[in-house]
Amino acid sequence: MAKRESRAAQRERLLRAAAAVETPSDCDVMVIGGGASGLTAAICAAEEGASVVVLERDLECGRSILATGNGRCNFANVHLDPRRYNDPAFVGAACGTRWLDDVLGFFRDCNMRWILEDDRLYPMSRQATSVRNVLLARARRAGVIMAPAREFQGAIWIKPEWLGKIDDAVHYRPENSTTQPAGMAEVAHTLPLDESGLPYLPGARAVVLASGGETLPFVASELGLSLVERRPVLCPLACEDSPLSALDGRRAHVLARLTKAESLFPSYQERGEVLFRSYGISGIVSFDLSRRAEAGDLIELDLVPDLNESQLRQLVDPFASGSFEPGCLDGVIDPSIAEQLELLAKQRWCVAWDERKEPQSASEALLALAKRLPLVVKGPAEPEKAQVTRGGLATGQFDPETLAHRELPWLYACGEALDVDADCGGFNLAWAWKSGMVAGTAAARWALS
Ligand SMILES: Cc1cc2nc3c(=O)[nH]c(=O)nc-3n(C[C@H](O)[C@H](O)[C@H](O)COP(=O)(O)OP(=O)(O)OC[C@H]3O[C@@H](n4cnc5c(N)ncnc54)[C@H](O)[C@@H]3O)c2cc1C
Repeated sequence: MAKRESRAAQRERLLRAAAAVETPSDCDVMVIGGGASGLTAAICAAEEGASVVVLERDLECGRSILATGNGRCNFANVHLDPRRYNDPAFVGAACGTRWLDDVLGFFRDCNMRWILEDDRLYPMSRQATSVRNVLLARARRAGVIMAPAREFQGAIWIKPEWLGKIDDAVHYRPENSTTQPAGMAEVAHTLPLDESGLPYLPGARAVVLASGGETLPFVASELGLSLVERRPVLCPLACEDSPLSALDGRRAHVLARLTKAESLFPSYQERGEVLFRSYGISGIVSFDLSRRAEAGDLIELDLVPDLNESQLRQLVDPFASGSFEPGCLDGVIDPSIAEQLELLAKQRWCVAWDERKEPQSASEALLALAKRLPLVVKGPAEPEKAQVTRGGLATGQFDPETLAHRELPWLYACGEALDVDADCGGFNLAWAWKSGMVAGTAAARWALS
């Protein structure tokens, strides 16, 4: 059996490969960030005939794709709809009416095939590596120069004689930087250096910002770009005194309803799985709720969404005695959750927020907890686990039809670098691919015009 490569050996190999990548002195399109949207933009620009260089901070391009969809990459959704995004007007104008066809056509041309689970699309291999590999192969075929271990950190200067040329102020993270990942300095020593001793990076006629959740604040301040503050979304939610905190790790299929603190009626509901955590809830439902919920809002979980109240009452208290038999919910919900609900019902537990409907009897209390378990939101939990960040480059300064900056026609942006985020289900990657196509194609046309 082939011996598995150690992490250290892999890093060494990747560092050597990165250092061996030679970048030309200038190119038509420079893409900053070689993730989902950046690789797509680079492929589309190169296939338009432009010479393209991708600068990627990581040791390889496309690594961000590997963790998606629990390693399976839920790369799109058959019901792509701008209303699933925080900026429907901008997303709708950028993606057009053939959005899904465009994304599937792009992957068909990458020789990838897919499968459907519910509304979600995955590669037929059910492996995120497939998605990354087909992108890298197509980028290579198109002649894209992928330059990993190059963190773009410099300012962009606009030379009047060559609008869009990136000056040698574009440079590498200095060796003594505290945040520098191990190994980066080694690469810096092996890269060709310019006269100021900094690794040499090419000039470009057009630049595509595709750095994902990283805002590149130095670029923004240098160019006067308007930024929306970043915050994590698609993440677990911390709740005040969660009554099910003892059930850390248990899962339940629920219908969750969100009521804003200032409102009496739910504004959003979603059906799916929640994972109870000691601090609150996680799982896809909580991820989608995190895009809408703020501190003080109320989430009510219907733990038996397939039975209505009267059907459930029949199970809990068939003789309307006001009490219930222990274990009466065991056949419909996880028995350890049912046991906890019974305890809470006996104590007539309710959150302060929810004084409206304090139940009278033990059976009414159990029914209420099973159908409307109340949780008061504290805020995002474990932000490092967030799948997406909201915020970034304000969309208003970009033309949605080309994703070109309205005043800097050589500057383009795509993917999460822009202030665009969406629900779970393949919507975020669908935006990354399509916005990459739009920005890459338009950047190449500008550079070659
Ligand atoms: C765990 C996890 C699971 C997910 N699962 C899904 C899913 O199944 N379906 C879905 O639709 N979405 C999913 N997402 C969201 C999805 O991955 C992102 O929306 C998408 O990758 C955004 O693409 P992007 O190109 O904008 O950014 P990224 O793919 O993050 O790429 C940005 C790239 O830029 C590089 N970079 C950053 N700064 C610099 C710099 N200064 N210089 C050079 N390079 C730089 C980064 O290293 C990175 O490679 C998931 C996210 C996470 C974290």
